[in-house]
Amino acid sequence: MLSLAEFVVWVVGVSVLVFRSAFEAYRLTNTTFLIIEVDDIYSEHPYIYAKLVPEADTILLLDTGCGSASSDRTVEITSLRAFLERVPVAENGGRPINDGARMRYVVALSHCHYDHILGVEQFACDSPVLQSAHSPAFVARDALPANSLCTALGIRTPQFASILVPHNTMLTSVSGVPLGMTLLHTPGHTPDEVALWDAHDLMLYVGDTVYEWEPIIFPAQGNISVWFATIDQLEAVVMSSRLPEAVRINCGHRTVTRPALEVLRAARQFVSDILTGNVEVRWRRWRRGEWHVDYRQEGGQFSVRCPERLVEEARHQRRLSI
Ligand SMILES: [Zn+2]
Repeated sequence: MLSLAEFVVWVVGVSVLVFRSAFEAYRLTNTTFLIIEVDDIYSEHPYIYAKLVPEADTILLLDTGCGSASSDRTVEITSLRAFLERVPVAENGGRPINDGARMRYVVALSHCHYDHILGVEQFACDSPVLQSAHSPAFVARDALPANSLCTALGIRTPQFASILVPHNTMLTSVSGVPLGMTLLHTPGHTPDEVALWDAHDLMLYVGDTVYEWEPIIFPAQGNISVWFATIDQLEAVVMSSRLPEAVRINCGHRTVTRPALEVLRAARQFVSDILTGNVEVRWRRWRRGEWHVDYRQEGGQFSVRCPERLVEEARHQRRLSI
């Protein structure tokens, strides 16, 4: 029989054990959670989203994080799947998000960069993995080591099969039950970038297309002109909803549940100011065979880092279209 003091020590000890996880989860809506990989060795802190669809017995997962490579070597739960199925979440009534592993998964990848796909093998073994069908060559198995940036980082590229999904597809469970989410092709950051649109909850999930307070990074395969078209498309999706001002945007890093129209319009204005020469280059560095530049808005809400070539190409494109 434990004394009260011993019982408290036991409970605290168990709680500490239970919560030593590479992830934290927060409820965004009745059915949606934000999962943050809090201390990954790459300092990416990716934002992962889980939408629970009980009528389909399915969790729709957007992205899988950095594969649980945590800077904290004392962390015990390092697998995203183990976190979902075993770690109690305070904002889920103290239960794991997928308590008892009762629900199946459908995994959508916002794009193939390493910080979004390194955990995918935990799910690909028994769950469908969805990627954009916009540019099959970009996500092909032989191109993935370079395009995921795994080669540049000297890390192993995950091996997984995926289903390439057309633009504007309503996602369903394996058994065909609607998941209440539409997948949109949103190239620009990368050719395979996608957004998910939840018209019921008025939530837009945009991956790395845009976020605040950290540099929006365009890799060598990015395209700023295409990015503008994507921002226009996303704004049109929001404007066609039943309550545009109420739509919230949720991003691959840092930005969550912010007013979508405000963020999209402000980001477009900042990048437009870069093209018109109204933003000074903060630094210019030679990397991987070309000049890279960094622009930062006063106050730091938006910043952009990319090969200078992409800015020049977008300026040229803009001149052609005037
Ligand atoms: Zn990315």
